[in-house]
Amino acid sequence: MDTNLHYPPDADLRKLLRFEPRSGAIWLGERRMLLLHTAALSALRQDLITSVGSTHTRRLLTRMGYASGRHDAEFANKTRGDRSPEEMFMVGPQLHMLEGAARVTPLHLKMDIAAGHYEGEFRWDDSWEAHAHRLAYGVVEEPACWILLGYASGYTSAFMGKLILFKEVKCGACGHDHCHIVGKPIDEWPDGDAYLPYFEDDSLLDKMDALSRQVEALKTRLEPSTSGGMLIGNSPAFQHAYDLMLRAASTQVTVLLTGETGVGKERFARALHAHSNHATGPFVAVNCAALPAELIEAELFGVEKGAFTGAHAARAGRFERADGGTLFLDEVGDLPMAAQAKLLRVLQESEIERVGAERARKVNVRVITATNVNLEEAVAQGRFRRDLLYRLNVYPVCIPPLRERVADIEPLANHLLARFTALHNKRLNGLGDRALQALMHHDWPGNVRELENLVERGVILAAQGTTVELEHLFPNLPATRQDGVDDHGRLAHIVPANSTALCERIVDSGVPIGQLEAQVLAMAVERCGGNLSGASRLLGLTRPQLAYRLKRQESGEVSE
Ligand SMILES: [Zn+2]
Repeated sequence: MDTNLHYPPDADLRKLLRFEPRSGAIWLGERRMLLLHTAALSALRQDLITSVGSTHTRRLLTRMGYASGRHDAEFANKTRGDRSPEEMFMVGPQLHMLEGAARVTPLHLKMDIAAGHYEGEFRWDDSWEAHAHRLAYGVVEEPACWILLGYASGYTSAFMGKLILFKEVKCGACGHDHCHIVGKPIDEWPDGDAYLPYFEDDSLLDKMDALSRQVEALKTRLEPSTSGGMLIGNSPAFQHAYDLMLRAASTQVTVLLTGETGVGKERFARALHAHSNHATGPFVAVNCAALPAELIEAELFGVEKGAFTGAHAARAGRFERADGGTLFLDEVGDLPMAAQAKLLRVLQESEIERVGAERARKVNVRVITATNVNLEEAVAQGRFRRDLLYRLNVYPVCIPPLRERVADIEPLANHLLARFTALHNKRLNGLGDRALQALMHHDWPGNVRELENLVERGVILAAQGTTVELEHLFPNLPATRQDGVDDHGRLAHIVPANSTALCERIVDSGVPIGQLEAQVLAMAVERCGGNLSGASRLLGLTRPQLAYRLKRQESGEVSE
């Protein structure tokens, strides 16, 4: 063994491993992991060998290991980016041990990333795979640690940025008392070509993936940002609203789009326009809430010269500009009463009167309105005309909030990711498992618009060539309770490193610390059904410490 070869402490890697039994997930960093019985994997291995033969099985399993190795290579730079290349490299063997593959001892390591030189030799003791193979087939001639070897090749190839092939020169499955692996660039092995099929498809897939992303990016650039391209969704709730909209498109019926803020009402309106007989005409959108009340009539209906101070020239309103097309009135509930009367007249007579005009003009405009307030309530409060409501509410289409269409979140997020990576010239490997899970569980008060903002921020924050992770999407997420592995290999509660964020939120909230403590203690006691020992474990206190604090709360000593 080279004298300079040693493992740095692996606390940084153990910290990555978190158990969340309550949410049914195990995490390594942002990657979702699985605790699997080696017996189960071994059974799968045997079934594969029986059904497709050992050559194919070896290829499949090598590729499986290769994929895990590649994923783990992400952590080298993330956890030890500031260390020497050798210490950074050791992330692989150390993670391989943490994941339970074998005991790995480095024997020789010489590398130069820039020059592409790599020589590595490692010893594996107690490889689970050698053990499983020997158990099923007895002592064999050929080494059998296929998954493990794939991992070493995948990790090292990703780390070096070129294909490094590892071979087993000794294996427990062949009767040796340990396994011994040797790795170098694939072109330095005389028979390297024979191993290429193990990895080739990957590079082909990578290439296809890169190409398809390029196509996606180009398509996104061609597609005008105003198109209805964002109407993505297969959830029943979304499909129902979309079908209703489509059926109204070819008619002249006045459609009222309802739904929470950010659900995409304007996109629905644009899609309706695109499918209507007015599709070749203009689409004009007006946000009634964004216009000052005193200007809104002139803005919508136009103005004649001299109608009021400042009206130096005659000007067409939005209705006239939308002639032959569609006028979309968003937040129609905010329209002042006088404008409501005029709108009613347009809808009934298809004619408008400019402010200060003597006569009316005919217009041919399809009107779509939208609101996120309850118009019935506005009528009851005298803020909205009942006759106008009846006229607008002929064909209501309610667009569901994002939290009611969870199935659409992933396709929407991926679509947005493609759009924003193209827009910001980023090349990213998609969304991390944990990030995606967080998106699925979010409440989405701001709906699709909130998702759009979140993904765009994620794309900007994620480094070039990496994955969009949880912290990029929700930078201020409070830390949750997590269990990890301590120095003795036991599961233990890990104090989250980002508790600073939680503290900031507490300070910002202005809740007095005494009150907060009272609430936290009460919550812990309640969670444990009144059991003080359990509650004290939750809080990291001894039972007497908890009892003392509770007593102090009761006596009002700390109440602010
Ligand atoms: Zn082996």
